[in-house]
Amino acid sequence: MEYYSRQISRLIEELSRLPGVGSKSAQRLAFYIVNRPEEEVRDLAGAILEAKKNVRYCRQCCTLTDSELCPICSNPKRDQKTIMVVENTRDRAAYEKTGKYEGVYHVLHGAISPMLGIGPNDIRLKELMQRLQGEVDEVIIATNSSLEGETTAMYISKLIKPSGIKVSRIASGVPVGGDLEYIDQVTLLRALEGRTEL
Ligand code: ZN
Repeated sequence: MEYYSRQISRLIEELSRLPGVGSKSAQRLAFYIVNRPEEEVRDLAGAILEAKKNVRYCRQCCTLTDSELCPICSNPKRDQKTIMVVENTRDRAAYEKTGKYEGVYHVLHGAISPMLGIGPNDIRLKELMQRLQGEVDEVIIATNSSLEGETTAMYISKLIKPSGIKVSRIASGVPVGGDLEYIDQVTLLRALEGRTEL
C-alpha cells in the first residue's frame, strides 16, 4: 500500500540508502526537504553533485580532495618523510585537528577483514608501498584498535619491515574498537606520542 505520493516515496527510498539513515529519519528528511524554499534545495542538490564531480583521491596519500595533490601533501612545511597510515579520511581529519602532527598521511580507505572478505588488495596498500620507494624515515600505523585495525597494522608492519624503514604503532590508549573519529584530541596526541616501534 502506498502511503505517500510517488515522488515522496522515491525521495524517502533514496535517502534511506544513506548510511545511518533509517526509514523514519528518511521520512523526516524527505518532508523537511520538500518544505524548504526551492533555492535552498537547489543549493543542497548542487553541493552533492559538485562534490561528486570534483572530489577525487589525492595522487600521493589517497585522501579525498578537490585537487590532484591534497593541501597537506602539497604543503612544503610538512615532513614528507613521516607517513601516518589511517583507515579513512575522517580519521585523518581527527589527527589533523590536534594541530600537532607535522608529517603526512596515507589513507587506506578501509581495513583488512577476513570475516568480511576484505583483503590487502581491497584497500590502498599498494599505493602505500609505492610511496615507500621514495625517501621515508618512519611509517606510523594509526589504524583503529579494532580486530580489523590490528590485523591491518600487523600485515603492514610485516610488509614494511624488510625494507628497513622504521615502523611504529600508536599507543593503545585508544579504546579497543574505538573509532578514531570520536576520540578526543588529548587521547589522540597521547597515543601518537606514546607510539612504539614494531
Ligand atoms: Zn595527499
